[in-house]
Amino acid sequence: MRVLVLGAGFGGLELTTMLSEQFGDDVEITLIDKQDSFVFGFSKLDVMFGRTDADHVRHEYAEIVKPGVRFVQAEVTSIDAGAKHVDTTAGSFDADFLVIALGADYDLSATPGLAEGGYEFYTNDAAFRQRDTIAGFGGGRVIVGVVSAPFKCPPAPSEAALLIHDALSARGLRDRSSISLLMPFGRPIPPSPEASEALLSKFAEHEIEWLPNTAVASVDPEKGTLTTSNAEEMEFDLFLCIPHHVAPAVLIDSGLTEDGWVPVDPLTLETKHPGVYAVGDVAAVGTPRAGVFAEGQAKIAAQQIAAQIESGASDATYSGRGACYIEFGENEVGRVDIEFFGDKKLGVLSGPSDAFAGDKAEFGASRVKRWFGRDWTNT
Ligand SMILES: Cc1cc2nc3c(=O)[nH]c(=O)nc-3n(C[C@H](O)[C@H](O)[C@H](O)COP(=O)(O)OP(=O)(O)OC[C@H]3O[C@@H](n4cnc5c(N)ncnc54)[C@H](O)[C@@H]3O)c2cc1C
Repeated sequence: MRVLVLGAGFGGLELTTMLSEQFGDDVEITLIDKQDSFVFGFSKLDVMFGRTDADHVRHEYAEIVKPGVRFVQAEVTSIDAGAKHVDTTAGSFDADFLVIALGADYDLSATPGLAEGGYEFYTNDAAFRQRDTIAGFGGGRVIVGVVSAPFKCPPAPSEAALLIHDALSARGLRDRSSISLLMPFGRPIPPSPEASEALLSKFAEHEIEWLPNTAVASVDPEKGTLTTSNAEEMEFDLFLCIPHHVAPAVLIDSGLTEDGWVPVDPLTLETKHPGVYAVGDVAAVGTPRAGVFAEGQAKIAAQQIAAQIESGASDATYSGRGACYIEFGENEVGRVDIEFFGDKKLGVLSGPSDAFAGDKAEFGASRVKRWFGRDWTNT
């Protein structure tokens, strides 16, 4: 049996690990990614705000040594889902089971002026560059702004606003700076009123201006201004932007998307093509784009595939359950527990506290141990 996993992010790494643990060398698993290493989303903020450096947060795929698993560094260039045939820059692959875990990509050109200014912090390179920009910033008007929804990690803009507050305070620059946060939602974390209230009171405490239901429409890098979706012009000296998210072009070109994302059965993660699954940010599941949800979906897709390899059927279904960590600044972290399907639970907030900062570190450490087989701490 051959399982082909496209994308070695949260979803692809977890699914590969589960199948390798269960079948060892009896199943041939090929894991393909165009990058040579994995970086946690939260590590981008850690690097940006000087808590660690870029080399520390890269996890090399070459370190994956698991029975039955071969990693191939290549770009996926076309997918024939019906035939389970994939073309890449390193040749073609055929599979018995195909898993699409290619994540979400960004379209900077959707926002006039955004690419020219280098304002985003969602790609690895940009986030690592922002570290120098933030370190060299002498104070002034800061805007953290979102272009459109959905976007990865709904807490990330709020976290960025609170962490820039800390960074400016530590350098004695907060008094001569303002911070504004623009989001296209009515509250910071729509599915969690509790977490939203806690964030709003932190924003008020730190005099961070909160602009709900407001997105970034365009940027003028020369003037240092942006225009909002409400046609208001705002001036900035430092702009940290969450760009427009799209499915990777190869999926659109291969006819696998509908309304922008790959449709799946949200309970089994199977696409309309039997034996072809899509998990994580790229799949239209109805959960937020976050690593914990990608991982949870991968666990179900792995069980579905495993059962079929053993000529059976799995009754494992996806619950949309996850726990997200939120940086509240001043080294305090909160945890939101949430469930989207089944019993449905609104996001319940625990913390924030420094104890949850320890839990978040353990979350990252346990994944690196499981996926890459080595010890690691996030900072
Ligand atoms: C700033 C920031 C902070 C975040 N914080 C958190 C957090 O605290 N907790 C949390 O749970 N989530 C967080 N996230 C979100 C999280 O990173 C993503 O939701 C998660 O990585 C999605 O997993 P995935 O497997 O779907 O995709 P990814 O992890 O994005 O993996 C997709 C992989 O596919 C590869 N790929 C794409 N196209 C191709 C191609 N054509 N050929 C070959 N390879 C390709 C990519 O290189 C990538 O490695 C954060 C994200 C950001 C940006």
